[in-house]
Amino acid sequence: MIAYFPELYPDELLYSGVARLCNRLGFSHHRFVLKDLFRATNVSALIDLPRNIDQLLSELPTQNSMACDELIDNHTLLPFYSPFVTSKRLQEVRMLMKRGCQSPVQMTLGLTRSQVQSPDSLRFCPSCQEEDVEKFREPYWHRGPQIRGFEICPKHQVFIEDSSVERLIREKTSVFRCASVGQKRKLARGISLTNPEHHTLVRLAVNIEWIVNQKTLFVGARPLQKIYLNLLKERGFTTCNGRLYLERLLAAFYQKFPDRLLRRLHCQLRVRQETPWLIRLIRTPKGLQAPLRHLLFIDFLGYTAEEFFTCVAKTNVPYRPFGEGPWQCFNPVCSKRFSRPIKRVTIRHCFQHKEGAGIFSCPNCGFAYRKLISEALTNRRWTVDLGPMWRQALKDLWNNPYRTIREMKEILEADALTVKRHAIRLGCNYPRHSHSKSGTQISTSK
Ligand SMILES: [Zn+2]
Ligand SMILES: [Zn+2]
Repeated sequence: MIAYFPELYPDELLYSGVARLCNRLGFSHHRFVLKDLFRATNVSALIDLPRNIDQLLSELPTQNSMACDELIDNHTLLPFYSPFVTSKRLQEVRMLMKRGCQSPVQMTLGLTRSQVQSPDSLRFCPSCQEEDVEKFREPYWHRGPQIRGFEICPKHQVFIEDSSVERLIREKTSVFRCASVGQKRKLARGISLTNPEHHTLVRLAVNIEWIVNQKTLFVGARPLQKIYLNLLKERGFTTCNGRLYLERLLAAFYQKFPDRLLRRLHCQLRVRQETPWLIRLIRTPKGLQAPLRHLLFIDFLGYTAEEFFTCVAKTNVPYRPFGEGPWQCFNPVCSKRFSRPIKRVTIRHCFQHKEGAGIFSCPNCGFAYRKLISEALTNRRWTVDLGPMWRQALKDLWNNPYRTIREMKEILEADALTVKRHAIRLGCNYPRHSHSKSGTQISTSK
């Protein structure tokens, strides 16, 4: 057990606390710290997702009692990943962070597939640094600036700066550098209010900060994919069967996020012959797509992370362009015509109109009609199938010599041509023989 461990500051990385300890105790060789605190000689990924935290906690003096989950939620970057992975994987990673020694956390999380690399060095906000020194009498490493995409401090609206502490340490050992050694004083660089790119970066940083500060945010990759597809459908980027209008989507995305900005964030869409990550995000929810890319996409859809995860993702209802139903049947001879017998609508892509259309078919009489989604609120519709009940009614009327064509037109709500065409198709006698009201037999061929 060690005699002293510094209390962690708000939003401080666990790494930062360990680095302050090393500095205070004057450890020149950090392997001692690793051996004493983590029972390991190599904890290279300690900055983002440290492992073996249970071991660390068991070594701490009793006054530093901290629950392991609390430490993970408040002082590591795991919360940044949690909404985007499956619950099973999240649990595995949490277990590894608590007890794991050897298996790499990053790989379990699926991070190897992600191409958004961490910044090359530890980073900080010069204004936050000033505030920390004033409040705590020392600077420390915050969580947000260590994430790519967090390029501007949301609180101070100034750019995040690189420190002199390199993240990628070539030899496999880890070095703990506290912020008071690594953070050189720098003049804060403010953002330009007229630069739309800066506005995008502010939105991203606000979203990252919000996610990092959530404790039990979880959606999962597959549910997310469904939500994304629904939202794209609403915005006209897919057919109603969910087939993407690829070029339209990419063009709109580029319009919102210029290529230069995407490159800066390691989120460029066209990398060699690979499928653009944007498409992978929607089509194949396997593996972990970098959280930053999800956030860019959520921003593209027009939501903040908070709006998306607290409202959209929770209240996401299936795509219902025609409302809740049930719907009316328009067959004049259907006995349930006015009692709204149609409970389901099938949505198909209409190739003729290049948009989605709903097919409504009556379970009572078999009558079916089609409506375009863009005309959901109008009365325009096309009959797809008149149904067996309507056809039987026509047959009966046609074969009844006392019925006139005019009556048939009224009863069946169809024009004379339709009535005759269907009668012929049904194998009825044509021309038909009927009795006029006066009783003389006449032939009605017209
Ligand atoms: Zn700041
Ligand atoms: Zn009906």
